[in-house]
Amino acid sequence: MVKRIVDILRNGQPEESVTVQGWVRTKRESKEFAFLEVNDGSSMANLQIVLNQDLPNYAEVIKQLNTGASVEIAGVLVPSLGKGQRIELKAQTVKVYGEADPESYPLQKKRHSFEFLRTIGHLRSRTNSFGAVFRIRNACSYAIHQFFQERGFLWIHTPIISASDCEGAGEMFTVTSLNLRNVPRTEAQEVDYSQDFFGRPAYLTVSGQLEAEVMAMAFSNVYTFGPTFRAENSNTSRHLAEFWMVEPEMAFCDLEGDMDLAEAFLKHIFKYVMETCHEDMEFFNQRIDNSVLATAENIINNQFERLTYTDAIALLEKTDQTFEYPVKWGLDLQSEHERYLAEEVFKKPVILTDYPTEIKAFYMRLNDDEKTVRAMDILAPKIGEIIGGSQREERLEVLQRRIEAQGLNPADYWWYLDLRRYGTVPHAGFGLGFERLVQFMTGMGNIRDVIPFPRAPLTVDF
Ligand code: ATP
Ligand code: MG
Ligand code: MG
Ligand code: MG
Repeated sequence: MVKRIVDILRNGQPEESVTVQGWVRTKRESKEFAFLEVNDGSSMANLQIVLNQDLPNYAEVIKQLNTGASVEIAGVLVPSLGKGQRIELKAQTVKVYGEADPESYPLQKKRHSFEFLRTIGHLRSRTNSFGAVFRIRNACSYAIHQFFQERGFLWIHTPIISASDCEGAGEMFTVTSLNLRNVPRTEAQEVDYSQDFFGRPAYLTVSGQLEAEVMAMAFSNVYTFGPTFRAENSNTSRHLAEFWMVEPEMAFCDLEGDMDLAEAFLKHIFKYVMETCHEDMEFFNQRIDNSVLATAENIINNQFERLTYTDAIALLEKTDQTFEYPVKWGLDLQSEHERYLAEEVFKKPVILTDYPTEIKAFYMRLNDDEKTVRAMDILAPKIGEIIGGSQREERLEVLQRRIEAQGLNPADYWWYLDLRRYGTVPHAGFGLGFERLVQFMTGMGNIRDVIPFPRAPLTVDF
């Protein structure tokens, strides 16, 4: 029976017959034996395979079994005499599916830089680092669904093609309709790509929030988890043009409820990953950033700091720290400020609330002072903003006024305003940048290295 290597390493018993399938990581030959390390992606650890010269096709397969080759090996588990592993597999049959020429296969046994690995994005998942990143990404996804499903939230699917710029930041990709079915290939190259979406403007979604509000007004508690797109024409280590967002939306909820949920949510994900991916987390702690494990424990065990934007500005104005960007009430915080607060001042995640109305989106609930809105950002050490959320404006007249004040057309938001016209309730939600979470958790420095197929200016696409 084909078994996953992680299961063999955990539970395999001597004399058990097993078959494994995977890719060769290394080969060592001695006079009578050869040792292979095989990995199938199920864990960081490889399974050691012993090949004895009396295998019927030994001479032939040993030449083919180079780093990168794909194999299926059947045999019997035996206790390992070597250090580092409890058990190994004594091969009885070896089948090589595909060879990998050692002259040209780029992933030879040595450490490669992440810059180099980005140029071979189609192969980098076969390395220890990316294996660990993508297993952790998977565990986070699972923990996200688990958290919301256990609390009775409905997973809803908001559209990718959208008519509005939810954030008002103007960072949208437009959608064009192009039907090339009856256009010969040669002429297709001269097609006008500037057409719109069947006569109307449309964009790739920057956030599913407005649609999530629609659903929350019927199901009370909902969440989306899907790709979002922003035309971020800059090269930062924290922005992608295509990234995944988790966006819960809760009816009958205020900003305090929103912050409580966000904090419990982050704690849950870290706890789940520490329990199920400990080996991978250890790896990041050793190789990438030696505060990874301590950070995870910190998140799980300590309450996040909560303070207002106004207090944060006062604090930043007082410090001796020099910043590249100015600090002034009314200006948005830059990641250097956000990181300073979380990393240096509080040494844990910080929830900032009540941002200036002017720098936040129209849908956030206006405070009585009218100068600030019920917004909250969660700032993480090393990353800065990881979550952005708010209580939403539930009052029809105020919302109409806010839409107009931002130069938007209320007619475009007729359905959104209807939600306030009929059965409106206080409601709140937030958006977590999924890649920023994985970055924060693993200590990976560049956001392009926590998504399998990064989309950003100047990335190598395939
Ligand atoms: P930033 O200030 O870092 O540009 P934002 O305030 O524009 O973020 P929001 O509109 O609040 O972002 O989106 C919610 C969350 O989505 C952010 O807190 C962040 O974690 C994530 N996010 C936003 N833009 C990107 C991006 N371009 N790539 C990856 N994640 C992003
Ligand atoms: Mg932004
Ligand atoms: Mg921001
Ligand atoms: Mg934000």
